[in-house]
Amino acid sequence: MPQSLDRHSVNTATLGYQMPIGETIDAIARAGFGGIAPWRREVEGGDIDVIARRIRDAGLRVSGYCRSTYIPGTSREAWAANVEDNRRALRDAARLGAECFVLVVGGLPEGSRDMPDARRQVQDGVADLLAEAATLGVPLALEPLHPMYAADRACVNTIRQALDLCTLLDPARTSHLGIAIDVYHTWWDPELPEAIMRAGREGRILAYHVNDWLVPTSDLLMDRGLPGEGVIDLDAIGSLVCDAGYRGLTEVEVFSHRVWRRPPDRILADCVASIIQGPPTCLQDVR
Ligand code: ZN
Repeated sequence: MPQSLDRHSVNTATLGYQMPIGETIDAIARAGFGGIAPWRREVEGGDIDVIARRIRDAGLRVSGYCRSTYIPGTSREAWAANVEDNRRALRDAARLGAECFVLVVGGLPEGSRDMPDARRQVQDGVADLLAEAATLGVPLALEPLHPMYAADRACVNTIRQALDLCTLLDPARTSHLGIAIDVYHTWWDPELPEAIMRAGREGRILAYHVNDWLVPTSDLLMDRGLPGEGVIDLDAIGSLVCDAGYRGLTEVEVFSHRVWRRPPDRILADCVASIIQGPPTCLQDVR
């Protein structure tokens, strides 16, 4: 089956933030991709409406806006400030036309060993943001992170845990709350097939991120592989996500000091090559 680049999006982190956002938008469009997922560091402080227009004019969708400020805080005031920061970012996501706002929820606040408390703070924070998400029409995508990040990045660590939180906070399945499935964080999960099918049944899959797990991995954050370079069965997981009914873009998201040594156009060419050689995506868009 032929690969369709326009069914893929590029997370700008993949390019290592080597260029201003305007040039990044143009380069991604020029390479033939159908979408972009920008980061707040590239957008905040700029003219968001100008950036949004440039993305639209380039013919790109915004598969997601990255990402939330960590929600747990050392005090109620710190928690509230984090939530407020996310509310602002969510409004920017709406102006960008983002298809979701990615929630990397945060781990333990400094000095804490209380994981249940961190998870309660996340639950309260997401509940708080949900009304705003509904008003703005930008769904919140909880991204479960590999458990190795539970202390410092995200205390939501499996698809099942993320879905349980969705059920708790949004029992009516309003479409304003769902999950981002990233193969780097979820490929190891023995419950992965059931979890992905459940996510589809419950209408929660908002984003699908691809990359690869290298063996050995030299850096747990900054040594991801391009799709196809590692041990993740992208064909199998992609089929599950497709069978679960997801018809959005497949987002290439690679944090890698090794890849970032290459110029952006070379990285994009390498992404194109990895997609063309890779598993088929769900070509039928029923959005
Ligand atoms: Zn991701």
